[in-house]
Amino acid sequence: MKKKITIFGSTGSIGQSTLDIIKQNPDKYEVIALTANKNYLRLLEQAKFFKPKIVSINDNASYKKFIDLNSNKNLKVLNGLNSYEEILDFNTDLVMAAITGSAGLLPVVSALKKGLSIALANKESLVCSGSLVISLAKINNAKILPVDSEHNAIYQVLDSKNKSKISRLILTASGGPFLKTKIGELKNVTPREAIKHPNWSMGKKISIDSATMMNKGLELIEACYLFGIHQKNIDVVIHPESIIHSCVEYMDGSMLAQMGTPDMRTPISFTLAYPERIKTDVQRLNLSEIKKLTFFEPDLNKYPCLQLAYNSLEIGKSAPTILNAANEVAVQRFLEKKIKFLSIAGVVEKTLNNSSISSINSIKDVIEVDKDSRDLANSIIKSGSY
Ligand code: MG
Repeated sequence: MKKKITIFGSTGSIGQSTLDIIKQNPDKYEVIALTANKNYLRLLEQAKFFKPKIVSINDNASYKKFIDLNSNKNLKVLNGLNSYEEILDFNTDLVMAAITGSAGLLPVVSALKKGLSIALANKESLVCSGSLVISLAKINNAKILPVDSEHNAIYQVLDSKNKSKISRLILTASGGPFLKTKIGELKNVTPREAIKHPNWSMGKKISIDSATMMNKGLELIEACYLFGIHQKNIDVVIHPESIIHSCVEYMDGSMLAQMGTPDMRTPISFTLAYPERIKTDVQRLNLSEIKKLTFFEPDLNKYPCLQLAYNSLEIGKSAPTILNAANEVAVQRFLEKKIKFLSIAGVVEKTLNNSSISSINSIKDVIEVDKDSRDLANSIIKSGSY
């Protein structure tokens, strides 16, 4: 029996890598559904090759172009963000949640409510609605398999039956493209420079988040919720080689790490195959060639976004949701060259400070806080007071 896979966000970086693994294992997987935001050409190509039963395109104009070009009359084609409900009515064994941003939240919640296993690549689900998502997974007996390389690493070495024996989690960070750049030189960096990640090939938003280290901040929040570990017991360490993807330290002094070349196809295949493993053509580690691995503490003055993420966890409730929304707005404005690189942290901090903190009891609360925080971040940017 082939495993049935639905991919939300199939034309992005994670979606494409997922399809690459599936392509290498045609006897093991069947693609049920694919979704895209705008990239109708790539979606069309994917639909022709993988023959899903259903596809969805969010953007209206792209949907129309897809319809014009599609010759497969048996393929169901949907339009709009709300099509995930209909997509999830199709029988599926694993949902790859690879939509970036808060747009990816509702499909995750919906899949969890149906008790489906999720390969979770969408960070915002845990960052914005961590306790809700975790409790939904528990109630509905749905498995969450983390795709993010750090959480996937921890998942692989974490003895979940002996959680009380864990003393710390260590999240590794590459330090991004500006690792060797002095604070004073960060003032005038361009989106082009900030996007160039040294080790991982990723989407634009997450590449900027890596450069500010907000990415690690969001991952810290994710790890707290996903593994039920307090932030004071989670360390971030810069490890520029990106070979050790994260570690778990146990009370007896043992530290277990997961290693591998920096290639997202490894954690993706882990989630696709779980609890089995499948073969991939990912490049193997050659330890004697690597020779040495380096580690050092992040400078929180240089990476204020990381400190803001710790702060948001201390504040709790809606603070991580506010942090995430403000960051999305600020990164977008930076990519549009409307604000400077160093202003990203400033906008996030000001939005956090000027927001009232509320409880998050439902997805409706998340969506409201997300919208209000975006509005506030936008008005802060407009006023220039950050
Ligand atoms: Mg990561």
